[in-house]
Amino acid sequence: MSQDTRSANTRPGQVKTVTSVSNPVIKDIKALVAQRKRRKEAGLFVAEGLKLVTDAMEAGWPIRTLVFGGEVREQPMVTKAAATARARGALVLDVSRAVLTSITRRDNPQMVVGVFEQQWADPASIAPEDGAVWVALDEVRDPGNLGTILRTVDAVGAKGVVLIGDTTDPFAVEAVRATMGSIFYVPLVRMSRTDFLKWRKGWPGKVFGTHLKGSVDYRKPDYSGPTLLLMGTEQSGLPEQMVEACTQLVRIPQAGKADSLNLAVATAVMLYEIKRNVLEL
Ligand code: SAM
Repeated sequence: MSQDTRSANTRPGQVKTVTSVSNPVIKDIKALVAQRKRRKEAGLFVAEGLKLVTDAMEAGWPIRTLVFGGEVREQPMVTKAAATARARGALVLDVSRAVLTSITRRDNPQMVVGVFEQQWADPASIAPEDGAVWVALDEVRDPGNLGTILRTVDAVGAKGVVLIGDTTDPFAVEAVRATMGSIFYVPLVRMSRTDFLKWRKGWPGKVFGTHLKGSVDYRKPDYSGPTLLLMGTEQSGLPEQMVEACTQLVRIPQAGKADSLNLAVATAVMLYEIKRNVLEL
């Protein structure tokens, strides 16, 4: 939480009632929801909804602020979440509906919102263990795709996701929502393209790139050993320099007129094929 929020007549661990949409803490949370720049500067993000907030706390993600609507104050799950947040030193806000709808989506406002610290994994944590599968996403643009991929990575038991280059923010509200909580369990590493290409030279495993012009059917390769699955950006796919970093380019066959599969769908098809080969559920 930024200095202005900390100094807004609030102390961690206390419960404060807020009815004004221009309360400085609320304004700060709104900025975290709306602006990537603000999330980056503060190293924070917002999770909306009791399930996501509870998942994050259960997974041990540091919570800074918990906000709940006065009308759900008596619900046992909300009381429990508020007690956990207070015990962890978070600021807890009991707010009016008007305040909540000013923070969350108007169409389906959530009654509980949490502000958490972002967590990024170190590139050194990408261990080349036998059977380990990592997914690398080159310049993924769509937060819904990224969230869905994190959810799928979690579901198949892959190790984590590497975000390469200029990607969408995994801590945007839409991306976090699309993960359905998996973001709290899937390690995220970020690298520039240059750093990725450097790092790749030291990766002893195979790198499978997916490409519409791939020469190999995705069901053919032997996916044993440490594996990196490299996916291209939504609009233009993998650029040449990334193609050159691949051990093999694979293609998922298509019939019909569609020129490609959706990125998240292609990632899921690949991961389940790799899982069928090597991962254990
Ligand atoms: N027009 C883009 C192109 O020419 O590559 C389409 C990109 S596609 C929407 C996004 C990514 O999903 C691709 O870069 C690739 O990683 C993967 N993908 C989609 N369909 C695929 C297929 N049939 N075979 C292999 N990869 C595919």
